[in-house]
Amino acid sequence: MKKLYGVIGDPVAHSMSPIMHNDLFQLYSVDATYVAFHVKPENLQDAVKGFRAINLAGLSVTVPHKQMIMPLLDEIDPLAEAIGAVNTVVNDHGRLIGYNTDGSGYLEGLKKEVPSFMDKNMLLIGAGGAARAIYYTLAQAGVKKVDIANRTVEKAEYLVNNCPFPKNSEVLSFKEAEEQLAKYDVIVQTTSIGMHPDIEASPLSVEKLKSTSLVSDIIYSPLETKILREAKQKGARIQNGIPMFTYQGALQFEKWTGIFPDMDRMQSVCLKQLGGKSC
Ligand code: NAP
Repeated sequence: MKKLYGVIGDPVAHSMSPIMHNDLFQLYSVDATYVAFHVKPENLQDAVKGFRAINLAGLSVTVPHKQMIMPLLDEIDPLAEAIGAVNTVVNDHGRLIGYNTDGSGYLEGLKKEVPSFMDKNMLLIGAGGAARAIYYTLAQAGVKKVDIANRTVEKAEYLVNNCPFPKNSEVLSFKEAEEQLAKYDVIVQTTSIGMHPDIEASPLSVEKLKSTSLVSDIIYSPLETKILREAKQKGARIQNGIPMFTYQGALQFEKWTGIFPDMDRMQSVCLKQLGGKSC
């Protein structure tokens, strides 16, 4: 019987996941289909009950359900538990198991650009949900130093203080980060600043950026944010949010089917949707 997978979110109509996963099911001749389910927060509990009733094979979970779905599942993977958010659900013979592939998806994309990332000085800009997944994954991997700059400094402090993995981190204001930017080999922009439609916004000036650094922005709409454009002008390497998005999806697909998919194919499917070129 055809298996059913899906993504739940509110809103969810914009999600590229159905196109990405259906293309992979077709490519690998998996008898399955993937649909978007628009689920309001007040209906999440009923929706999960319904997924159990129809034996849904797996789920992607997006905003605002990543935390709220956790108590509704049967088991949570330790990294997802530490991060405090689930973006992937696997139905293992009726048991719903929650994982988080956002941080590991980011890390896979980073490894391609900076294979020696473990020894680098990194700066994370932002302390929201995506930053938390990335920070905990970097800490778990044992990266030498990861500092965090956020508008609300207390949120960055909370993130560092509650990280269950060994870490070496300072918390900075945006102004302090701007002044010390030359210290960092990898700068990871995780705030929503610069995202469509507010594309002329940037969290900080890259005046002091060194040209050997990588600036990575997890936003993919637009494909080149203002901070990436300015970093490129300074001679630095840049990476947009497509690698993180496609790798988190690839890791989901692997959990559901046991197949690690063709990344070039996934990237080109997403880029076609977004109408641009990766960087
Ligand atoms: P979130 O939990 O709401 O966190 C938002 C972050 O942005 C916080 O650090 C917040 O700072 C900061 N921020 C928002 N508006 C700001 C402003 N005007 N000035 C200064 N700081 C501001 O959001 P999230 O889920 O982490 O998502 C963040 C971004 O990542 C979004 O653009 C999302 O599309 C993108 N994303 C991409 C992927 C991918 O696969 N590529 C995956 C997940 C998310 P405060 O703490 O001070 O409020």
